[in-house]
Amino acid sequence: MDFSLSEEQRMIYEYGQNLSKTYDRKYWMECAERGEFPEDLYRQVAQDGFVGVMVPEAYGGAGLGMMEMGLLNEGLAEAGIPLLSLVIGATMGLSLIARFGTEEQKQKYLPDACAGKTRFCFAITEPNAGTNTIKTATIATPTSEGRFKINGGKTYITDAGDADYMIVVTRTTPHDQVERSTDGFTLFIVDTKAKGIEMHPIPISVKIPETQYQVFFDDVEVGEAEVLGDVGKGFRVLFEAINPERILVGFICAGLGRFTMDKAVEYANERVVFNHPIGAYQALQHPLARAKTEIEMAALMSRQAAWLFDRELPCGAESNMAKFAAAEAACHAVDASLQCFGGNGFTKEYGIFDIYPMARLLKTIPLNNEMVLNYVAEYVLGLPRSY
Ligand SMILES: Cc1cc2nc3c(=O)[nH]c(=O)nc-3n(C[C@H](O)[C@H](O)[C@H](O)COP(=O)(O)OP(=O)(O)OC[C@H]3O[C@@H](n4cnc5c(N)ncnc54)[C@H](O)[C@@H]3O)c2cc1C
Repeated sequence: MDFSLSEEQRMIYEYGQNLSKTYDRKYWMECAERGEFPEDLYRQVAQDGFVGVMVPEAYGGAGLGMMEMGLLNEGLAEAGIPLLSLVIGATMGLSLIARFGTEEQKQKYLPDACAGKTRFCFAITEPNAGTNTIKTATIATPTSEGRFKINGGKTYITDAGDADYMIVVTRTTPHDQVERSTDGFTLFIVDTKAKGIEMHPIPISVKIPETQYQVFFDDVEVGEAEVLGDVGKGFRVLFEAINPERILVGFICAGLGRFTMDKAVEYANERVVFNHPIGAYQALQHPLARAKTEIEMAALMSRQAAWLFDRELPCGAESNMAKFAAAEAACHAVDASLQCFGGNGFTKEYGIFDIYPMARLLKTIPLNNEMVLNYVAEYVLGLPRSY
């Protein structure tokens, strides 16, 4: 494995720093405070060709891979402007359509989405099933006209209210009627304005610019043309979205960790208390050095997972471990940084405490770190399943 970045990869990684000259942390926070999607920033990212990083050039994308998408997200987070919509819409949505969509679907959805004219969200989580996706109860029932009617509900769907399309994970066969628990899933590309869809925003305490929604489906009609992949075999498609999501969270957490630590190091070198810069005191140095070590290890693991993914090699273990390590490391990095700032760390002006909620959120989503450890215990170590 080559650890150096190509010129193109370095440019992608540094894009966040360049973009933040126009759309900086302050802009991101103001959007977050207002609960407003950062439209201008997103449009700029699309115009610069970065929404479709993983989409083939024939459909308006850049034809690059997970490594490049990861570096883009790492660089943006490192500049203080992490974008969940690039994980959910641009990666999980667009790259799945690029991979599993029909030619007609690719032509219909990808060029506009790459150009930033339309956005996608992704709906898996249900209030009752929770982490146990097998118990998905949103059902798509075939009609006599060869179409489907979707009924059920999803929760915490990021950006659903503003997105144009939603990839909806349904069951075409209920979980208690299938031979294997992963059978009977079907994914649909649904117009968010379709008749029968109702949405309600869920106010959350973490300040991010993307809003979450509860979504209800009441006889929402879709056709064969909206099926992503094959009817009843959607779990395989879903599975292909799961590792990229975890890998990207690894990259984002590495970026967020560096963002906060850069600020802390600058402050600790300047702030003098008891005749020395506070950065000279080991009580502050060691937690920072430990967090820096954890961040760089997690960044490496994220890159390894991306490298494997791009070569179509198994990457479940690496994706999960990268997500776990990076989310833990980001929380440690914010905590160690916060301590350097003393009382100032809790002010709006310095904005350090503001970073913590997002880092902490990424321990729980997209998959909680307990389930990640369950995966490592069962599939990497070979221990019995605990649940
Ligand atoms: C800001 C935000 C954005 C989100 N965006 C999306 C989105 O765009 N699309 C989408 O589909 N979903 C989204 N989600 C949902 C998110 O993925 C889930 O909240 C998350 O996966 C946890 O599921 P849950 O809330 O149902 O927790 P539960 O399944 O109720 O679990 C609660 C806790 O129990 C523990 N736990 C559960 N099972 C086990 C076990 N077997 N072993 C050990 N511990 C266990 C874990 O600690 C877990 O945190 C979002 C959530 C938030 C908060």
